[in-house]
Formats: sequence, C-alpha cells, structure tokens
Amino acid sequence: MDQPALIFDINRQIKDVRMQMQSAAGGMTRLTELFGELKDKAAVLGGEPMGDGQEEDVVDPWTVESTSEKGVDYDKLITKFGSTRIDDALKERVQKLIGEQNPIHHFLRRDIFFSHRDMGPVLDLYEMRIPFYLYTGLGPSSEAMHLGHLLPFIMTRWLQKVFDVPLVIQMTDDEKFLWKDNLKDPEETHRLAYENAKDIIACGFEENKTFIFSDFDYVNGAFYKMVCRIQKLVTFNQAKAIFGFDGSSNIGHVAFPAIQAAPSFSGVFPQIFNGKEKIPCLIPCAIDQDPFFRMTRDAAPRMGLLKPALIHSKFLPSLLGPKGKMSSSINESSIFLTDSAEVIRKKVLRYAYSGGQATEKEHREKGGDCDIDVSFQFLRFFMEDDARLEQIRQDFSSGKMLTADLKQELVTVLQKLVAEHQQRRAKVDDATVKRFMTPRKLNFEY
Ligand code: ATP
Ligand code: MG
Repeated sequence: MDQPALIFDINRQIKDVRMQMQSAAGGMTRLTELFGELKDKAAVLGGEPMGDGQEEDVVDPWTVESTSEKGVDYDKLITKFGSTRIDDALKERVQKLIGEQNPIHHFLRRDIFFSHRDMGPVLDLYEMRIPFYLYTGLGPSSEAMHLGHLLPFIMTRWLQKVFDVPLVIQMTDDEKFLWKDNLKDPEETHRLAYENAKDIIACGFEENKTFIFSDFDYVNGAFYKMVCRIQKLVTFNQAKAIFGFDGSSNIGHVAFPAIQAAPSFSGVFPQIFNGKEKIPCLIPCAIDQDPFFRMTRDAAPRMGLLKPALIHSKFLPSLLGPKGKMSSSINESSIFLTDSAEVIRKKVLRYAYSGGQATEKEHREKGGDCDIDVSFQFLRFFMEDDARLEQIRQDFSSGKMLTADLKQELVTVLQKLVAEHQQRRAKVDDATVKRFMTPRKLNFEY
C-alpha cells in the first residue's frame, strides 16, 4: 500500500476500534492498547489529516510558527499529534502520589506542561514500586542559553525531586554540528555541550542521581547497538514523513533521530540500570520534540521494549509577540541566561509586546488583553505566587494597572531569576561538570 492508502486504512481501523471501544463492555484494556498503537502508527506515517481547511501552525523540531495573534493553538496540536491533555484528574493523581508536602508545580497547575503520552501507565508502575527514569536533553548551538531552554530542565528538576528517580540528559552536539552551517568543527559543538552543561547543572540537579552525556563521547557500545536496532525498524519513507527529509538532506540528518530515540531505553545505560532493558522512561520536553518520540514509540514494541512516556510543554513566547517562540537566532526575542540586570530591564521595556491600549486614558477605560500581552504571559511561566498573578491579571484587564507597571513586575521577577541562576552557575567548575558527565553508577540499586 502507498502512504495515503496506509493512512486511510489506519484511520479506518481507528474508527472501527473507537466504535468497538464505545460499545464493548469488557476487554477494554486490549482495545485501548490497540487504539494507542494505531494512533502511534498513524502519527509515524505523518499524522491524521486535520481537514478543516484552516491555516495551520507549524510545529516541528526546527520550526515553530503560528498564524494567530494569540500564538500556537495547543488544543489543535494535541489533536494533530494524537497526544492527550494533562487534565485535572491526572494532576490530582500526581498530587496524591507525591504527597501534600510537595505542592504540584505551577508549570502543571497552569497548563504550561499541557500534554502527555502514557503518563497513566507510568504512574501505575510507580505505584507498584517500579519507578521510572527521566530523560531530557539539549542541542548545544551557542554559549548562551535563553529562558525558553530552561523550561524542560525546571520541570525535570522538580520531577526528580518529588519522585526521587534517576535522570539522563543528552547533549546532542552531533545534531547541532550536522544541522548548523555556522558550526563547522565538531570540536566546537563538543565544547559547547560542556559549556551548556554548566547551565543545566546550575538548575540544581543532584549529582549522584544525574548523568549528563555528550553524544560525541557516549554513542558507542550498548548505545550504538540500540541506535542500529532502531535504525533497522524505520524506513527512509517514514523518516521523510515524520521529519520532512528529502533527497538533499545530508545522511547525518537521516541517521540522527535514532540517536535521540535510543536513550528512551534503559539498556543504553548499563552502568546505571545494571543491564536491565525495561525500566520505564518519562521524557519531559517541549512539544516540538514529539516527532522523535512518535518514531521511538512505534519502534519500541517491535523490539520487545517499553514505549517511553512523555510530558510536553508549550513554548515560552518571543518577547516580540506570542506568534513566535523565544529563539536564539533573534536576539530581540530572547532573554539570555548571561544577560545583565540592566540588559533585562532594557529588553523588557523596549521589546515586550504589550496587550495594553494606545493611550493611558483608553487603557483605563477599556483595560488590557492578558492573552496577547507578553509580560503577563512571562509572569505565568516565572511568577510562582498564584494570588499575586491573579491580582495582576485582574488589575491589567480592568485597566487599573498600566503596561509600564506590568513590565516593571516582570523586570523584577526576571532579574532575580537570572541573577540567581548566574550565581549558581559561577559555582559550577570544570571538575563538577566532569563528574556529572562521567559514565558511572548512580545512587539507585537495580
Ligand atoms: P535557533 O534559533 O538557533 O534555532 P533556538 O533558540 O530555537 O535556537 P533550539 O536549539 O532550536 O533553540 O532549541 C532546542 C530545543 O529547546 C527546541 O527544540 C525546544 O524543544 C526547546 N526550546 C527552544 N526554545 C524554546 C522556547 N522558547 N520555549 C520552550 N522550549 C524551547
Ligand atoms: Mg530552533
């Protein structure tokens, strides 16, 4: 069957199974599994067609663009990718598991991490005392990381703390070398991996529970065997459909997705998991990374391994407006972790897109629009105090609070956040980085 026919066929099967699920009294578990498998297969073949004729947002590992003033439509993305919303029931379940002493993170409370795959089964296993491990990563393409890059690490740090589980962090120095025209020497991205690792360590990860690795250093032995097992299961046609490769893609691009997939399987870390291949894996990442893991999840059962679970975050918007995401390539869009207090103040005052009205008089009358106001959106990400945030929302929406005052709130929050990060980073020396990046047993028995 050609690809459209395959997608059609799988969509038909999804429909059949959905109907059976609705009417079946028993046997639900198997049907739910089958439904999940078919959805994954459809996703690997390029996703279900949206078919509503409207212009769509572009979200893939290399591009994030929205056509709407309010930014990416994340509800649509959930339908398109076939993932599941993190709903109140799931949040309550997490809260129950981690205990009252750990209030659930505001990234979850505020739907900044908004979507997931298979969190349910991972929590089932955790309840049965079969804990998962965490896997996340970063592509080291420049010295300075920005606030957007921090999101998965902030979430992962919290998950590691409340669930007390091992963590592996992949630095894809190979990917950035293969993709970025300005990075001509693999030594350069390898060096950047070690530089960026300092920022990651400064997020507060526990040394005896965390292994950070550069692909250039670590892809060998058990890792490379897993890469080859995955590569053998994914055809070039599938890779084209998932990642948009074509005849002009270099062959490094085509080979790379298996390298990002492999750490989803515990067999890649024999020193940590004592050679066990079926430790459950949970991956916190921004939603643009999902295509890698759709491919991974399709391959997993065919290798007799567990599908990794995921939780997905939204993007931190560009300072310039919610249509785009904060991105290193556009300086004015970003607050970098290296920015001084003064630079942060200037950037926010000068660039932060405002949802306020043109004049003070008009603003007092009509109020501002928090949905498109970047300063307010940033406060949702970085101001932890719910009551204060709600007060600001009410005051800005009603016109009581002016844009200048809202921006000043944000400046204060970001200056503190970045200064504290810089202080912690200054304490991370080369020897510390080396310890985190040495393959070794972690503080868990397997
Ligand atoms: P460039 O502009 O050079 O592409 P970038 O700032 O977009 O750089 P990437 O290297 O593409 O950074 O980012 C790597 C990954 O970090 C992204 O694929 C995404 O998962 C995450 N990320 C980057 N920017 C953001 C953001 N603004 N919000 C949330 N996650 C982000
Ligand atoms: Mg990018």
